Amino acid sequence: MTLRFAIPNKGRLLDPTVDLLKRSGMVFERGSDRALTVPVRNLEIELLFVRTDDVVEFVADGVAEIGIAGLDLVVESALDVDVVAELGYGRCRLVAAVPKGSPIEKLEEMAGCRVATSHPLTTARLLAERGILDVETVSLTGSVEVAPKLGVADAIVDLVSSGSTLLVNGLRPVATLFDSQAVLIASSASRSAADHVQTMLGAVVAGRHKRYLMMNAPNEAVAVLNDLIPGLSAPSVLPLADGAGVAIHSVVEVDDLWHVIPELEAAGASGILVLPIEQMVP
Ligand code: AMP
Repeated sequence: MTLRFAIPNKGRLLDPTVDLLKRSGMVFERGSDRALTVPVRNLEIELLFVRTDDVVEFVADGVAEIGIAGLDLVVESALDVDVVAELGYGRCRLVAAVPKGSPIEKLEEMAGCRVATSHPLTTARLLAERGILDVETVSLTGSVEVAPKLGVADAIVDLVSSGSTLLVNGLRPVATLFDSQAVLIASSASRSAADHVQTMLGAVVAGRHKRYLMMNAPNEAVAVLNDLIPGLSAPSVLPLADGAGVAIHSVVEVDDLWHVIPELEAAGASGILVLPIEQMVP
């Protein structure tokens, strides 16, 4: 049976999503921007390019078995889909903000305010969870950040990544309500169909945070290097052909590279190579 996979057809999530699928080993070409369905040539998968906002609906309705959408959209839709995996891109925050001159300093002080947002359900729920109940949400689909200037609202709750759009529009962040990123979703009925895709996409996501390290070292350095770069369980240690030491292979976190490499050198390692990992299934 062909698996239908709904993904964004434009916007911020399109390019990183296509990149993720291609890196996972799916071979496909989207002939034109208008193509709605695109077959994956080497797998029984059909990609359904739809508006980011519609991905969750299509998966919930069973039009597609799986999909990729922002977690914020999944939560806002309140539809019955399973979040199968976090994909690590499309990261943003749902932030409450007020005009720079506003007396509001804390979230609790937003009680009684009119709040413009494109995420009214999530906003009302997250504020209610914090005991802020009497907020009037003004539902907008775009340009939320200009609502206070237009006199439509006293505050906003909007998605931001760097926060520069808030500053440009004379707004001051008050609190972060929610962290979002792109996620793989499946309808409850298709949960098992998603497992294979989850493994393959998850392998790309996991590989992005790691590097493969290769180096030569004298035999007496092996114990110290083993402690420095234990890898997934232990590093591979291979004898060199000339018998004058060993080659050591291991996996490290990208975030650790900058402090690990000088430590490896100090421990006697040489010829250190750092390679990307395309996919990793731990
Ligand atoms: P689109 O409107 O198609 O560009 O996609 C919007 C989705 O991209 C949102 O629902 C978020 O999941 C995600 N996203 C990531 N960063 C941001 C941002 N700074 N502002 C808005 N949406 C973002």
